Parts: sequence; structure tokens; C-alpha cells
Amino acid sequence: MRTKSVKQPKVNVITLGCSKNIVDSEVIMAQLKASDFDVEHEAQKDDSDIVIINTCGFIENAKQESIDTILRYAEEKNQGNLEKLYVTGCLSHRYKDELSSEIPEVDAWFGTLELPNLLRTVGADYKHELLGERLQTTPKHFAYVKISEGCNRPCSFCAIPLMRGNHVSKPIELLETEVKNLVKNGTKEIMLIAQDSTYYGLDLYGERKLGELMKRLSDVEGLDWMRLHYAYPSQFPTDVLDVIRERDNICKYLDMPIQHITDNVLKSMRRGITKRRTLELIKEIREKVPGIALRTTILVGHPGETEQDFEELMLALQEIRFERLGVFTYSHEDNTHAYTLEDIIPEEEKQRRANAIMEQQMDISYAFNQSLVGTTQKVLFDRLENDHFVGRTQFDSPEVDNEVWLPVNGNYLRIGDFQKVKISAASHYDLTGEWL
Ligand code: SF4
Repeated sequence: MRTKSVKQPKVNVITLGCSKNIVDSEVIMAQLKASDFDVEHEAQKDDSDIVIINTCGFIENAKQESIDTILRYAEEKNQGNLEKLYVTGCLSHRYKDELSSEIPEVDAWFGTLELPNLLRTVGADYKHELLGERLQTTPKHFAYVKISEGCNRPCSFCAIPLMRGNHVSKPIELLETEVKNLVKNGTKEIMLIAQDSTYYGLDLYGERKLGELMKRLSDVEGLDWMRLHYAYPSQFPTDVLDVIRERDNICKYLDMPIQHITDNVLKSMRRGITKRRTLELIKEIREKVPGIALRTTILVGHPGETEQDFEELMLALQEIRFERLGVFTYSHEDNTHAYTLEDIIPEEEKQRRANAIMEQQMDISYAFNQSLVGTTQKVLFDRLENDHFVGRTQFDSPEVDNEVWLPVNGNYLRIGDFQKVKISAASHYDLTGEWL
């Protein structure tokens, strides 16, 4: 007798926040799919039975965006367009007790480390054998690889350890399998991400193993590009620089958030490093990996940052000349160490400082881009837009850095292909390419 297969509900997974949340959503989706759920990521059509929102709780703006998204789907549920609404991720981990009474439409709230519980509640089984499996949501040719969870650093302004817990490295073998599966699936470029990638291995192997991990992953056949993100400057494992220099498939690119530069603010931020050591490290990086593109993140407006600190920061950034830079304004986050300090710098002043840094950075980025004019660059193409193939050089990570625009001119390229391109012109944040 033929058993009638019960059609599993349709699930729509929404991801907010950083690339680490993207990986978490991809893991949730792979598990749901393995339990025969029809699962989509950020479905265009609102025809799902269940919505899972993977939230961000990092700073004020991100929290507001998460709450707005939850309220939007709560309204969908009130209108009967949705059966179940679940919330997970950082905001839920941090505020589920308060939020569950404020937004009763949400059927259940989950922390960042509650995947089995979330799956059970949705009606799926947690399958351990799927460890390392993901349902990719990024274009096939690139993927984020989260090498660890959590963070052991005491940075004064940061709420992430409150939401992600202590640092837990993923075993090298598991990451190797994950990358092999991704490459088999068509991935050519991986971004190594973590809260603090340079801490990798200390918890699991009793020593820093990032260099060894990068070698092992670089040996994965078919992997064309690997990038290192979220390196922490204090106690930076400099053996990593030799690996970046020696391996052709590791991009000459490093993302290392320094947050600030003056001793006064670095001390108040509890970053565990001085200005002198930061400058020495950057000098060593540039010497050991000639031509490397350095990305960083700066935080302005931290309690105690004086006008003099800010001027010193501007000067230092003018000298260091990071090729890529992002800036945040300080957000007074409850339960962080800095929350005990007075947040006296007005929001407009924080924003003025952030704008001044980005204005200065435009010229630095322009000068770097100009230096690429006339060179031939290997470019990985991400999309087609306005009769142009749009891609990135090894100096540009997806979604945060610059792009190369190559006019189609009757030529053929598949999205995800590499192509050698002559750089013919440059603007502040983009390059124009010519066919060779
Ligand atoms: S390194 Fe510092 S800023 Fe980064 S996640 Fe850890 S505590 Fe937060």
C-alpha cells in the first residue's frame, strides 16, 4: 500500500548581520533540507508557512533592523499569511526574555548555540552527520568559512562575547572537509571568518594553529582563492604572513580591525596593544608580504576619546594608508565594560569624526586604485550589470571592497569565472577593466 508522503511546510530563512550569521543560516537550511523541508533563503514571494529570522544584536542600528524585520513578519502572521515565526541569532540570544513579552507573535526564541532545539521545535531532526554541511546562500563561486565560534577578548565596547560565548575553534579536519565539499560544489574563493581568527587553535590544540590551518586549506585541490578576515592585532601569529606570501592561492589581502591607534583609547578599549606595537606589526606585514592590501575597521567616539586622540588617529591613518577601511561610531551597549563609562560624545560629533575618516580614506583608496591602472589583474566575476561584467581582484573581498567593471563588448564570461583583465581606469572605489 503506497504511503502518502506528508508535504513538509515551506520555510523561509532570513539572515541579518555579519558573514558569520550567513554561515549559521546555511547550516540551519542544510539541516532542514535533510529533513525534507522545502527551504528558501530570503524568499521573494511571501508564501512560506514558517519564517526563521537569524538576527544581529551587535550595535543599535543592527538591533533596530532586526526588530523591524521581526515586527514585519509578526504582522504577516497577524494577517494569517504565516503559520509559525521563529527568531534566533544574536539579538534573540541577548534579549529574548524582554522581547518575548513585547512581541507575542513570535512562537519561540533561540540563542546562538541552540540549533538542535530550534530544529526540534520546527519539527526537524538535528543530524550530527551533517556537521560541516551547508546550503550555500552566497553565489556558488565564493563562500564564508567560519573557523571558530565566540571570543575570549575583553574589548570594552563589544557585546559579541555576551551573544556568542567563549572562543571555540573548529577542528582542522572538519574545516578541511567543509572546504572540500564547498569546492566540489563549485566554490573557488573562501573567506576565513571568526570573531578573532588569530586565536584559532589556542583552545583546541593549546597553541595558535592559524598558519597550519591555512596551509591545509590551501592544499585543497581546486581552491583558487582564500582570504583571511577578522585578524586581531595583539599577539598576531606572524607565521601566518609567510603562509600568505608563499601560497599562490592565498590572496595578498588581510583584514585586521585595529579599531583605534592612540595609547589612551586602545587602553580604554582594552585592546591589549599599543600604538608602537600596532605600527611595528603593520610595517612587518607589509615587509613580509609585499603588495598586500590591508583592510581595517575603526571605531570612533569611544568614551574618553578626545579631540586630540581623534587628530592623532587621522594622522596615523594618513601614514599607514590602509587600502581598505570601514568605520563605526561607538554604540553604548548594555552589559559591556564600556557601559560603565560615560558616553558623553554627542552622536553628531561621532558621525562628524566618522565622516572625516571616510573622506580622508576616499583619497587613499583613490591613490591605491590609481596605482593599479595599466596593470593586469586576475579578476573573479560576481555578476552582470548594465552591460558590464562586475568582479573583484585579489585585493577585494565580496560585499565590502572595490569592484572591477568590464564592458561586455560582445564577449562571453560565466559568473564565477576568472579572467585576466587590464586595468584601464580607476575611481575612488571602483576600477574599469579592458579585455586583453
Ligand atoms: S575581538 Fe573584541 S571586538 Fe572582536 S568579537 Fe572579540 S571582543 Fe568583540
